[in-house]
Amino acid sequence: MNSIEVVYVVPSWASGQVTRPEGRFLVDTGDTARNSVPGYLPWWNPFFTKEVVIKVAPFEEIGFRLQEMGLDPARDIAAVILTHFHHDHTGGLDHVPHTRIIAPRESWNVSRGFQGKMAGCLPQRWPIWLKPELVDIDGPAVGPFPHSHPITKDGRIFLVATPGHSKGHVSVVVRGEGVSYFLAGDAAYDEACVRDEQPDGVTNEPALSIATFKAIKTFAAQESTIILPAHDPEGPARLAASQPFKASL
Ligand SMILES: [Zn+2]
Repeated sequence: MNSIEVVYVVPSWASGQVTRPEGRFLVDTGDTARNSVPGYLPWWNPFFTKEVVIKVAPFEEIGFRLQEMGLDPARDIAAVILTHFHHDHTGGLDHVPHTRIIAPRESWNVSRGFQGKMAGCLPQRWPIWLKPELVDIDGPAVGPFPHSHPITKDGRIFLVATPGHSKGHVSVVVRGEGVSYFLAGDAAYDEACVRDEQPDGVTNEPALSIATFKAIKTFAAQESTIILPAHDPEGPARLAASQPFKASL
């Protein structure tokens, strides 16, 4: 496969996207319908009970969406890449038990146990088989990012550190023909956050988020880049229109 294709699998709660050419890569796994089962989300964490309303239908889960596309994760997905371990990015892991899973070590380390539960992760709901291939972002510099981690041999898909929303958060960059795709996970809620250097409400460290936005902007100024945050309602339209980031509208 020589072409690169980036697809939003699920537009809202889930952040699944598929890229290739060295096989298809799925970025994050979205949420799960099980979060509607009483007791699934911890009652003692006010974030889940007061801050957000989460509704997911079973057919909106990543496994069903891939099936709709004729894709079997065991056969057709080279690896799942997790940007971080928040519940709405790991809820679909049950659908990929036979697929290689790559994740940032720093994020993994702060997402387990009580610390993770306090930070919006549900380690008690992760599949018991979950043993991600943990990676460090300590490879070559790319543009404004002092380090990266290559995913593919040709280096056209790589990870960069984009902390702020959560510690150890990474984004996935895909270099296509004449345009790059910046799959930003939750580094920013939407493209406007990046443009305005304005952190959304869900960031652990606003100053770090702003530094991340500046780095993304610099990257997008150096090469034509479509920025695709996981929850951005406008992301699918920008992708369909192949609309790169402009620093000012
Ligand atoms: Zn998150």
